[in-house]
Amino acid sequence: MSKRRVAYYYDGDVGFSHMGLGHPMKPHRIRITHDLVSAYDMLDKMHILRPKRASPEAMTSFHTDEYVHFLNRVTPETAEQLTYHGTRFLMGEDNPAFEGVFDFCTISAGGSICAAQRISSGAVDIAINWAGGLHHAKKREASGFCYINDIVLGILELLRTYSRVLYIDIDCHHGDGVEEAFYTTDRVMTCSFHKFGEYFPGTGTQDDCGRGKGKGYAVNVPLKDGLTDEAFKSIFEPIVSKCMQVFAPSVVVLQCGADSLAGDKLGCFNITMHGHAHCVQFLRKQNIPLILLGGGGYTIKNVARVWTYETACALGIEDTIDEKLPWNEYFEWFGPRYRLEVPENNMEDLNVRDGSLDKVRTTALEQLGALPGPPSVGMHDVPRESLGQHLGYWDDGDENSRNELDERLAQYSRLVYNLQEEEESDESDDTDPYQWESDDDSADRRRRHRTRMSILTNKHVDVDPDGHPGRKGRRRFFRSDTQWDETYKRALARSANPEAFGLRTVGIMDIPGAMERGGRAGSIIEGDMNIDDEWEDNTSL
Ligand code: MN
Repeated sequence: MSKRRVAYYYDGDVGFSHMGLGHPMKPHRIRITHDLVSAYDMLDKMHILRPKRASPEAMTSFHTDEYVHFLNRVTPETAEQLTYHGTRFLMGEDNPAFEGVFDFCTISAGGSICAAQRISSGAVDIAINWAGGLHHAKKREASGFCYINDIVLGILELLRTYSRVLYIDIDCHHGDGVEEAFYTTDRVMTCSFHKFGEYFPGTGTQDDCGRGKGKGYAVNVPLKDGLTDEAFKSIFEPIVSKCMQVFAPSVVVLQCGADSLAGDKLGCFNITMHGHAHCVQFLRKQNIPLILLGGGGYTIKNVARVWTYETACALGIEDTIDEKLPWNEYFEWFGPRYRLEVPENNMEDLNVRDGSLDKVRTTALEQLGALPGPPSVGMHDVPRESLGQHLGYWDDGDENSRNELDERLAQYSRLVYNLQEEEESDESDDTDPYQWESDDDSADRRRRHRTRMSILTNKHVDVDPDGHPGRKGRRRFFRSDTQWDETYKRALARSANPEAFGLRTVGIMDIPGAMERGGRAGSIIEGDMNIDDEWEDNTSL
C-alpha cells in the first residue's frame, strides 16, 4: 500500500488532567497511547506536532460566548454557583468541573483545529488527534464527559477549504453533538454507528435524518448489544461506500471512539481491535484526506492498544507490528498476556438474532439512495490554501491579521447558528433535540422542566431543581445588587458577600457588550450578576 504523510498531534500536558477519583473518563489514556506509539518506534515515521492551544475565541465559532467564558473560569469550588446549582452548562454527575478542565479543552480542541488546518494546507494526507473526538459537547452545555466539541470546531475549519465533509462516528454512543451542529446543512454528512435503546444519549434513530437543506445528510445506524466484527463490517462497508458514492466528500473525519470494543466498561459491543481498526484501513484505502480522532473508551489499556494499532494503520505498517508488546512505562498494565490485542468475548449478537441488522442496513441505504447525488458546488476549483490566504487576508506567519480574520469568521459562524436557532424555535417542541417534558402546570410553558440522560447510568436525570422533591419550589432567580455609578457611567455590581458569588472583586456590568449582544436572555455579564428574567421570583428561597 502506498505511503501516506501522517501528522500526529500530542501535548504531554494532556495526561495530567484528572476528572476525579473513580470517574471513568481518564485523560491519562492519551498519554499511555502515546507511550505505546513511541515504544513501537512510530514517532520518527510521522510529523509529531504539539498543537497550538485553542483560544476561547476559536471555541466560540461553535459554542456560545457565555458557555466558553464560564468554562474558562469555573473551578471545583465555584461550580455550584456558576452552574446555577447544576442547571446550566454542567448537568448531573457526568461532567464535573475538574481542576484544569479548560486547559484540557484547549489541548483537545487545539489538536483537532490544527489537524484540520494541516489537512487543508495539503501538507499531510492523514492527521491524528487522539485527545479529540468529544462528540457529545453541545453549543451551550457539556454532555457525556465532553465539554468543548473539538470535532465541530475542526469541521468548521475544514469548511473554509473543502466543499463537503463526511463525518463518521464508530463510538458506542450516538454522535449527537456533531449531528446537531450540522443537522440543517448538506455540506456536512454525519454518519453514526451506535448502540441504541435505554442508552446514552438516547438519540440517533433512523427517523432522525436531517432537516431543511440537510434532510437526508444525517445518517444513523442504531445497533443492539453484542455487535461482532463480522456483523459490524457487513453494515459499515456498504453504508460508508454509499456515503462516499452519493456525497463524494472532499475530506473524511473519523471519530474512533474505543468504547465500541469488547469488554469496555461503558460500552456493550463485542468488537475486537482488528474489527475496530478495519474502519481506519477501509477509509485509508479511499485516498481522501483523513482525520482520525479519539472519543470514548473506558477500559483504558484497550483504548491505548487500539489507538496505537490504528496509528500503525494510518502509517500502513500494521503488518510489521509485533503482537508482543515492547517494554514501555505502563508495561505491567497490559498483563497477563502483554499483547497488542483486544479479543472478543462470548456475548450473543442481538443484532443478528432478530434480523434487525439487515433492516437497519436496508433503511440506511434507502435513505442514501434517495439523495440527489453530490451537490454540484460552483464549477471552480476549491482553493488549496485556507480561505484567509486565498482572499489575501494574511500571509503565512502573519499572526495578527490571522487572528483578526479568525474573529470575523467566528462572528460569522455565530450569526449563522443564531439564524438557525431562530428558525428552529418557530417550530413545535417535539423537534427539540433535548428531552423536554411539560410541567404539570402547562399554562406556564417556561416552567416545563428538563431532563438529560446520564452516560454513567443511562437513566434520565432531572436538571431543573423544581423537579427535585427535596428542592421543590427553590427559585431560579438570581438577584442583582447592581447599582449605577455616576462617576464611571457604569453599573457596578455590589455584593455584601462577594465570595458567595465566586467573585474576587466587585464586578462591573458590561453595558456596551450587553447591548451588542442585543440584550439576549441568558447573557452573562462580568461579575456574574445577571438577572435570569425567564424565571419568576416565587420568593420561597
Ligand atoms: Mn462513547
